[in-house]
Amino acid sequence: MRRDTEIFELIEQEKERQINGLELIASENFTSPQVMEASGSVLTNKYAEGYPGKRYYGGCQVVDQVENLARDRAKALFGAVYANVQPHSGSQANAAVYQACLKPGDTILGFDLAHGGHLTHGSPVNFSGKLYRPVFYGVDKETGRLDYDEIARIASEEKPNLIIAGASAYSRDMDFARFREIADSVGALLLADVSHPSGLIAKGILNDPIPHCHFVTTTTHKTLRGPRGGMILMGEDFENPFGIKLKNGNLRSMSSLIDLAVFPGNQGGPLEHIIAAKAVAFGEALTDEFLHYIIQVQKNAKAMAAAFVARDYQLISGGTDNHMMLIDLRNKNITGKDAEKALEAADITANKNMVPFDTQSPFVTSGIRFGTAAITTRGLKEADMETVVELIDQIIQNPDSEAVSASVRKAVNALMQDRPLFA
Ligand code: PLP
Repeated sequence: MRRDTEIFELIEQEKERQINGLELIASENFTSPQVMEASGSVLTNKYAEGYPGKRYYGGCQVVDQVENLARDRAKALFGAVYANVQPHSGSQANAAVYQACLKPGDTILGFDLAHGGHLTHGSPVNFSGKLYRPVFYGVDKETGRLDYDEIARIASEEKPNLIIAGASAYSRDMDFARFREIADSVGALLLADVSHPSGLIAKGILNDPIPHCHFVTTTTHKTLRGPRGGMILMGEDFENPFGIKLKNGNLRSMSSLIDLAVFPGNQGGPLEHIIAAKAVAFGEALTDEFLHYIIQVQKNAKAMAAAFVARDYQLISGGTDNHMMLIDLRNKNITGKDAEKALEAADITANKNMVPFDTQSPFVTSGIRFGTAAITTRGLKEADMETVVELIDQIIQNPDSEAVSASVRKAVNALMQDRPLFA
């Protein structure tokens, strides 16, 4: 067959872009060659609707073993009793949890997207805000941190059926025990969506949601450094509180309702090549090598945050506990949109982001978000963070200067030269 040069040349271009640039998008990472190998394997050819041992297709004897390994490794990594590794994405993991424990019109209490939450936590443009009644908590205006008393107040007023603890742009650790107290006080179920910090949580350097939350969802491609995808975990299984029974009259377990909500509720055939790649990534994350990596991610984030603060950048909450930071650029007289564009021209990739109490639209924004998961995989250390921030600062101070853009781009390319994508 003729080689599809049109596509493969584009893939080569994207590879060059990734190799030469500084990747600071907080939700991205570089997977290991083995994760890539598994995700590009013959498993992509296999249909396997159902679950290991209970499939709707023949020929699943091998993929059953793959999926069982992925589930077992996920459970070992997070100390969970249940794992569903089939969700195609973080959004679909959340959709399945909602479907398993909510009826249309039920109330969900989530982190406001405009304060750092995710679309799937009740945004009106997302299924979660259309199908359910969303109410929100946000951060305190002064501290930039969650105010748990305020969350408790909103919960007692709105009586949510489900509370979602998790965010896409919140740099502080979360108090899942306190979230559980709040959920219990109003009879709500509690979901932690740890898509962003799951790699740090897996290695015990941030608070563990598993003992406190009824459900935990995560993407597998951010700090966890696996293929693009999602996953659902439970620290303990329990009988569903909705009275849904099995044929024998017993109450169904909550985990069986989650399984049903993923397949056939939300998805058809699972992506067994991606599930194999998830298993590889979980295997890697179980090692001490990954522990050293994730500690370095956190150290790099703290060093980067300190270097920004030293240059009078306004970090929401003043710093970071995890792998990311959100910066309000208003005192630098540049919008998030213009900063993102100017940085991109210098081969620095980041994303504009709403900041809490933003005065700009989501398309413009006053903020920018940076994360250290990807550059740490490239091998950058704390001492490099000073250089990285100095280069970013030059661009932010001179967004329209082609000379500055060219010199920063040259410095970025030099910094990233000879650093493999997966160091
Ligand atoms: N939940 C949170 C907190 C996220 O940050 C994200 C992705 O950014 C998702 C869910 C959704 O993940 P996906 O893009 O895989 O649907």
